[in-house]
Amino acid sequence: MTPHSLRIGIAGITGRMGQGLVCSAREAGFIVTGGTCRQSGTKITGADPLMNNLRLVRNLSDLLADVDVIIDFTNVSTVVSHAETLAEAGVPWVLGTTGLTADDQRAVNAAADHIAVVQAANFSAGVTLVLRLAREMGAVLSGDRYDAEIVEMHHRQKVDAPSGTALAIGEAVAEGRGTSLAAVRVPAREGQCGVRQAGTIGFAALRGGQIVGEHKLIFTSATEQIELGHRAFDRRVFADGAVQAAKWVVFQAPGLYSMENVLGLA
Ligand code: NAD
Repeated sequence: MTPHSLRIGIAGITGRMGQGLVCSAREAGFIVTGGTCRQSGTKITGADPLMNNLRLVRNLSDLLADVDVIIDFTNVSTVVSHAETLAEAGVPWVLGTTGLTADDQRAVNAAADHIAVVQAANFSAGVTLVLRLAREMGAVLSGDRYDAEIVEMHHRQKVDAPSGTALAIGEAVAEGRGTSLAAVRVPAREGQCGVRQAGTIGFAALRGGQIVGEHKLIFTSATEQIELGHRAFDRRVFADGAVQAAKWVVFQAPGLYSMENVLGLA
């Protein structure tokens, strides 16, 4: 198979990300064979010129006969069944859905024993670098002196909080500090929440309008403040990154990979 004959199936093709993925994949010269969505396919086909000639199905398994890779930006409720279906079919998986529980993540990890999976909370090259820098900052700016807080803002339709990217930034800081986010994460503060504990990582999630995605990591000590920020202007940045990951993942052995692997940073 040459990269240019890549046949891509898109889980969640009618969504905000799904539609961007159709454009990104076609612009990259790849074939989009079809996609899944919650709604009935016949209604959508023809209603939107972008979706013409695409097979829209409800179940992922109905899409797998003629695809080389699945790009999946759907809803967390699909993750376990998608993991099982793709592992059984042996189809590589680019997974962008966020809000996964520990059980969902275990299902992804189990699938990665059988297929190559690229999973990222954020497929932009900029955020991939932010994660790397956050790890380095966490290693240098110790938790006993520097309070780490993460602020994110997204569009009003977003259903999970904090964003997957905010959690990934928190995990990177925790990793840099030799711990895990689960051990140091502070849930949203409200009411009599008490004084801040050293070494913890706090989150604040704002929602409004059509904001594609803004993240800020702030370290504050008694004597200085350091901020690392990222702003996505167009969700095509995630779609382009996911298509790049799809092109890469079809040549990989089974395993769980990140965008750092795709960009050759890890
Ligand atoms: P959306 O609501 O616009 O689209 C969701 C799509 O999934 C639709 O096509 C819908 O029909 C389908 N879907 C939803 N629930 C389903 C179900 N139970 N079964 C089958 N299909 C179902 O959402 P969106 O803004 O496109 O985001 C989708 C996901 O991608 C979210 O989890 C979001 O947080 C995540 N996301 C990740 C990145 C990244 O870079 N990793 C970037 C943006 C969004």
